[in-house]
Amino acid sequence: MNYVSTRGSAPTLDFCQVVTTGLATDGGLYVPESWPSVSDAEMELWKRLSYPQLVVEVMAKFVGSSISRDELQAMADRAYGSFTHPAIAPMVQLEDKLWVMELFHGPTLAFKDFALQFLGQLFDHILAKTGERRTVVGATSGDTGSAAIEAVRGSKYIDMYMLHPEGRVSEVQRRQMTTIPDANVHNLSVKGDFDDCQGMVKAMFNDLPFRDEMGLSAVNSINWARVAAQVVYYFRAALTLGAPDKPVSFSVPSGNFGNVFAGYVAKQMGLPIQQFVVGSNHNDILTRFFANGAMEAEPVTASLSPSMDIQVSSNFERLLFDLAGRDATQVQSWMNGFSESGRFEVTAEQHKKVCALFSAHCLSDEETKAEMHRLFETSEYLIDPHSAIGVAAARATRFDESTAMVVLGTAHPAKFPDAVLSATGQEAKLPPRVAHIMTAQERVEPVDNDLESVKRVVRSGANRG
Ligand SMILES: *Cc1c(COP(=O)(O)O)cnc(C)c1O
Repeated sequence: MNYVSTRGSAPTLDFCQVVTTGLATDGGLYVPESWPSVSDAEMELWKRLSYPQLVVEVMAKFVGSSISRDELQAMADRAYGSFTHPAIAPMVQLEDKLWVMELFHGPTLAFKDFALQFLGQLFDHILAKTGERRTVVGATSGDTGSAAIEAVRGSKYIDMYMLHPEGRVSEVQRRQMTTIPDANVHNLSVKGDFDDCQGMVKAMFNDLPFRDEMGLSAVNSINWARVAAQVVYYFRAALTLGAPDKPVSFSVPSGNFGNVFAGYVAKQMGLPIQQFVVGSNHNDILTRFFANGAMEAEPVTASLSPSMDIQVSSNFERLLFDLAGRDATQVQSWMNGFSESGRFEVTAEQHKKVCALFSAHCLSDEETKAEMHRLFETSEYLIDPHSAIGVAAARATRFDESTAMVVLGTAHPAKFPDAVLSATGQEAKLPPRVAHIMTAQERVEPVDNDLESVKRVVRSGANRG
């Protein structure tokens, strides 16, 4: 399987190269040259598999011949062996035709463990073969950071620099990152917002000499392997609820658009998905795009669902590439427009096409709390603010009440105890496996919101051998 850039002028790469490269050298994102397909007969067989076995089947479609099935199975067993629920991704029915798929039973209690635990295995596998050492830089609005750190901590091949916006991540999220004692992990707290952090990570990648000097790799949601690993649970949920015979819809609380894009990929592979609901908080660039076909950046402000406090949804570029009929020149011109004037627009026809599959809905913090409260009162279900947005957005915009709707439960409620307490009066308790972080020693390096300062820190610690 070969991969091409959405901007058309980076080299074509194979799966393993894409994993360690991250962002393409032309600033684009890698996507498969064509979508692999899964037949109905294959799906019938897949219904009987364990979660790690299903991972092998789905990943094999993206990996091609570069990694053997036995090797994939060993990686999947290790990656998902760290999850505490026997079903890995259990489904809870809340209402008629409405399920939550709980994606928060991994080591950091958020769905990002699904992609990052597997990506950590992939990195070690690939780097062990080549003997290379890599510097991983990433930006986090909360959950990516801890999940990425858990995935690479203690690796012999990786130094990790994780940027987070100072004061903009919850205490639990911060402690999950800063209490990791492994020496290859470095936490940088930046005096800025998430988009500043992400902008600096992008700038480091676009500085090709720096990128080569440091051997930079990315684990952000732009990394194709993360999208691929997330495709698996869409198959899992839909096959459980009657696919390939019956269609299923999904509602996904979205920030960088990585999670919901993985669902789009599952659909392109043949999974019968009727609708995707995209949920946002008041940082609602995606909702506005689906309303009028124009992408327009606005300043980010803090919300109750900090992992979605984002205005530049990087994975959206992958959807745009398909929407443009895979015309990289068109994507390039949209992206140039966006970086020059903070705005671009798709055609009316393209807008109509995208709205036939996606709907979007945004919630204020008050509305989010009201939904959390409602779910506790009606179902005694404690839900985190991100997943609550998914439920409310599904209720507000679903196309067809008779199609099963699966809301992706993206975080454990105990990651956001203040929001849970104020919405429901309940204390969401951290599972025992993570409770120790509240008293453990923190390690964090404050850094100015300035690219050169960040580069200096990365240079000073990397290549220690
Ligand atoms: C990262 C995250 C999201 C947003 O996911 P994207 O893939 O960036 O759209 C939603 N909820 C939680 C809890 C997250 O950690």
